[in-house]
Amino acid sequence: MQGKRPIMLYNTLKREKEEFIPIRAGEVGLYTCGPTVYNYAHIGNLRTYIFEDVLRRVLEYNGLHVKHVMNVTDVGHLTSDADEGADKMEKSAKKEGKDVWTIAKHYTEAFFNDCARLNIQSPGVTCKATDHIPEQIKLVQDLEKKGYTYRTSDGIYFDSTKFERYNELGRLDPKGLSAGIRVEMGEKKSPTDFALWKFSPKDEQRQMEWDSPWGKGFPGWHIECSAMSMKYLGNHFDIHTGGIDHIPVHHTNEIAQSEAATGEKFANFWLHGNFLVVENDKMSKSSGEFLTLERVISKGFEPLDYRYFCLTTHYRKNLNFSWENLNAAKEALQKLREEILEIKKSDYKGTKSTETYDEEFLDKINDDLNTPLALAVLYKLLKDKDVGAKEKYAAIIDYDRIFGLKLAEVKEAKVPEEVVKLAEEREIARKKSDWKKADELRAKIAAHGFNVQDTENGYRIDPKPE
Ligand code: AMP
Ligand code: ZN
Repeated sequence: MQGKRPIMLYNTLKREKEEFIPIRAGEVGLYTCGPTVYNYAHIGNLRTYIFEDVLRRVLEYNGLHVKHVMNVTDVGHLTSDADEGADKMEKSAKKEGKDVWTIAKHYTEAFFNDCARLNIQSPGVTCKATDHIPEQIKLVQDLEKKGYTYRTSDGIYFDSTKFERYNELGRLDPKGLSAGIRVEMGEKKSPTDFALWKFSPKDEQRQMEWDSPWGKGFPGWHIECSAMSMKYLGNHFDIHTGGIDHIPVHHTNEIAQSEAATGEKFANFWLHGNFLVVENDKMSKSSGEFLTLERVISKGFEPLDYRYFCLTTHYRKNLNFSWENLNAAKEALQKLREEILEIKKSDYKGTKSTETYDEEFLDKINDDLNTPLALAVLYKLLKDKDVGAKEKYAAIIDYDRIFGLKLAEVKEAKVPEEVVKLAEEREIARKKSDWKKADELRAKIAAHGFNVQDTENGYRIDPKPE
C-alpha cells in the first residue's frame, strides 16, 4: 500500500460521498444487519454480504482495525417489515414441521457455510437476537421512561412523531404515508410508528416467547439491531450497513429508537448495497423463487465465480443476474488464473515498478469501493510489458486482499488421463442425448475431484473447489 489517501464513502444519510474519518483514530466500529434465518440465503442476500466484506477489506487495507459485528435475526422479523403478519421464523418452523430453534440453527449454519465458500471474512462478533432479550427489554424500558412509547392491544409501540429527525435517513414522502400506502394502521397512532415489543397472540402458542414488564411476548425486529450494535460498539459508532430495502423502515427505525434512548448520534455512516435483480425483478426470499449458492454450484460454478461476478459491478448499482453473465465471470476468472500462473512461473525482468498502478488501485477502492475500476487497474497492470513478472505478481496478490479471489492459491491443475477419458465419453453420450449416462459420467468425474463444464467451445474440466 502506498501513501495515505482519503477513504470516500457514500453516506446514505447525506446522499453524498464523504471522507470517512473514524471516531477513534485507527479503529472502526462496523455493524452489518445479518440474515433472517428462516430459509437459505439467496445469492441476492449474499451479494450484500460480499459488498460488506469488501468494505471491511478496504478499511483494513487502509491500515484501520475493524471491529465487525453482525447479528443473526432468529426472532421477531414479521412477514411485512412493518409489524404485520406472522413471525418468519415461526411460520417456517410450522411449514417444515420442525421446532423453531432447529430451524434457526440449520439456516444459520448454512449461511456461514455460504459465506466461507465466498471467502467472506467472519465478523469478529456474531450475535443472535434470542441471546439478547434482556438488552432489548432494557432499551424499550429506557424509551418508555423518556415517553417515546405507547401500548396497544398487541404490543408496545414507538411514537415516531415524538422523534423529530425520523425522516432524515429515509426521506419518505409524508403524503404517501399518510394516505396509508405503506402499512395497515391497526391501532397505531401514526403509520410510521413501529413495534418495540409484541405480545404473544392469545389464540396461538408461540415457540419463542419471553416474560417482560409488559407481558409475555417477543421483541420487534428493529430493536434487536439497536440493542446489539450499541452493546458491542457503543452508543455512537462508525458505520452501519445493509441492503437498500432497509433504508425506509428498518434503519430509519433503528436510528429513531437508538438516538431517542441515548440522546447521542447512533452511526456516523450508513452504507447500502443495491439489489441483485433477475429480469428487473428483485430476488426475494419470501417469494419462494430464488437462487441459492448451492444451486449455483450444482450448475458447475464455483462460489468464487459468483464473488468475481459481484465485483464487476459497483455495489450501489443494480446487478443483473443471468447464467450467461455468471458464465462470462467464470471464464474471466479462469483466464485471470491462467495468466497469474504464467507470471508466477516467469522470470521476466522489467524496467518499471508497479507504483503508479498501486496508487491508482488505492484511488479506486477508496473512491466508494469502486471494485470494477479496481479490477480494470489489475488488468492494465497485467498487460504492461515494462513491469517485471515478480513485481506484477506481488502487486496482484496485494490487490487480492480486497478482491478476495484467493489468487495466491491458484495452482496448475493436472487433469488425469482417466478424467479426460470420462469427459470424452460424456461428450459422446451428450451428443446422443443420453442425459442419464452423461449425468452418471459427470458424477464419476466429480468423484475424481473435477467439474466438467459445457461451454460454447466444447467442454472444460476444472478442479472442484475445496
Ligand atoms: P434478510 O435475510 O432477508 O434479512 O436479508 C439479508 C440482507 O440481504 C439484507 O441486508 C437485505 O437488505 C439484503 N437483500 C435482500 N434482498 C436482496 C437482493 N435481491 N439483492 C441484494 N441484497 C438483498
Ligand atoms: Zn438490522
